[in-house]
Amino acid sequence: MNNFEILRKNVADILQSIPSGVILVAAAKTRNAREVDAAVKAGIHAIGHNYIQEAEQMHPLVTEKAPWHMIGHLQRNKVKKAVELFDMIETMDSLRLAVEVDKHCANANKVMPVLIEINSGKESNKTGVLPENAIELIRQVQTLKHIRVMGLMTMGPRFGNPEDARPYYKITKAIFRKIKEEQIPNVEMKYLSMGMSNSYQIAIEEGANIVRIGTSLFGPR
Ligand SMILES: *Cc1c(COP(=O)(O)O)cnc(C)c1O
Repeated sequence: MNNFEILRKNVADILQSIPSGVILVAAAKTRNAREVDAAVKAGIHAIGHNYIQEAEQMHPLVTEKAPWHMIGHLQRNKVKKAVELFDMIETMDSLRLAVEVDKHCANANKVMPVLIEINSGKESNKTGVLPENAIELIRQVQTLKHIRVMGLMTMGPRFGNPEDARPYYKITKAIFRKIKEEQIPNVEMKYLSMGMSNSYQIAIEEGANIVRIGTSLFGPR
């Protein structure tokens, strides 16, 4: 099989292994537009990017239509571009960033769906809001007119035993449930984005309905 045949088979295998209704985001970092087009044709649901510059270069070259999700840490000086390129920002983690996104969305006359990124491991070197601060952040972000909070995202550990990721997913799901119960105006707890190549099955067991997969689709980076 050539690389594109392998990619098509990988997409088919993963779609087979996840329940219908779970959104498969192809994590496209370091890949090229032909690979991303092939993945969309094969049935992935959304294209995930970590870096604005990479996304910007790829954007005109990708011809297949799918929603673009920002899944990497977003810097405030890149927000204007991000608002142009993306249909969802999965990595909202501060009010300062949200205010910037709101401003540029107002200028562009659009409303950006966002997920709040939870630092479920409470690691100081990781991005995301700490679990205990999530509700307060959401209460603040929901006042912004051009942002719509639609769920939560977390990273968890990328390598190691997939079971090691389960506690991180449980913590995030518990916050998801709690915020849903709060019924905060303008906040819809619809999407829970958790799980990568080595742990997406576990994430789905713990309630994920968005999984972000790179290696298991495209091969090693
Ligand atoms: C790269 C990346 C993924 C996918 O990781 P794989 O292990 O290659 O599946 C998922 N989410 C984020 C935020 C990433 O940066």
